[in-house]
Amino acid sequence: MDKIVRVLLCFAFFGVSLAHAEQYPSKVITIVVPFSAGGPTDTSARLLGQTMGAALKTQMIVENVAGAGGTIAAAKVAGSPPDGYTVFFHHIGFSTAPSLYRKLPYDTIKDFEPIGLIGDVAMTLVARKDFPAKDLKELITYVKANKEKVNLANAGLGAASHLCGMLFMSAIQTEFTTIPYKGTGPAMNDLLGGQVDFMCDQTSNTISQIKAGKVKVYGVTTKTRVSALPDVPTLQEAGLPGFEVSVWQGLYVPKATPKAVIDTLVKALQTALADPALRKRFDELGTEAASKENATPEALRKHLKSEIDKWAPIIKKAGVYAD
Ligand code: ASP
Repeated sequence: MDKIVRVLLCFAFFGVSLAHAEQYPSKVITIVVPFSAGGPTDTSARLLGQTMGAALKTQMIVENVAGAGGTIAAAKVAGSPPDGYTVFFHHIGFSTAPSLYRKLPYDTIKDFEPIGLIGDVAMTLVARKDFPAKDLKELITYVKANKEKVNLANAGLGAASHLCGMLFMSAIQTEFTTIPYKGTGPAMNDLLGGQVDFMCDQTSNTISQIKAGKVKVYGVTTKTRVSALPDVPTLQEAGLPGFEVSVWQGLYVPKATPKAVIDTLVKALQTALADPALRKRFDELGTEAASKENATPEALRKHLKSEIDKWAPIIKKAGVYAD
């Protein structure tokens, strides 16, 4: 081939790929959410999607791929085209799954590129309205005395609600029945209907029911009280010293997604998290938006790894596994 033709072809190739990268996004982006619609992860993802979509000048839609504590969704994202049109919204459960599941259909570190941290959500321990325990001390006494009959709803092994319930069992040294759902949206419906007794879930899912007096609340799982629920004590204050867990959330894409696409998503995430309307809504839902420094691939990569290391011995000690 003539040298000049080769050079021209080369320019044409780079021209096309640059134009392609510059065009991103040119169609709808799907946010895969690993739990059912109507739950807290779904709520946060929809809020973020609206604001990030505006920054990206495209629509971001949510696809709920529920089941197996979020691992089905993670496997689906790991196998999706690395083109920036599939993004993954997951939480702390992404870091506990490697210890909880003997075999995972994906590699948590190698199969994904982190985009950034999104936020941190306090959890609340709540029970059905007519549950016979008015505060945490009474709840502990009641659960210990009725461990054969009480049950706790969660969103399956690997869900934040599962982790919190497990920590609660270990804190009060009592085992009781847990009922797995595909998300805590449907679990909340059953709690409101009185079919299950209690649940520890993101405040973003419990706050409206607490404020409406439709559930009993025993405490928040963070070290300090949640500003949107000033009258609710922390579980530490209420009688469980050292009890602390919150639900950090992160955004990922499949590995091998081009750097230009990742950079665009990082910028849009940071723009969304600085948006006053989004911050206000997050605040009302007991969610602290990540800072600009934490809404970066480096911060999420580091956090994910440290959380995997943090939970591994705790889960091992609890002896909870799934095949
Ligand atoms: N709150 C759930 C969990 O326990 C998930 C959800 O339905 O958003 O992880």
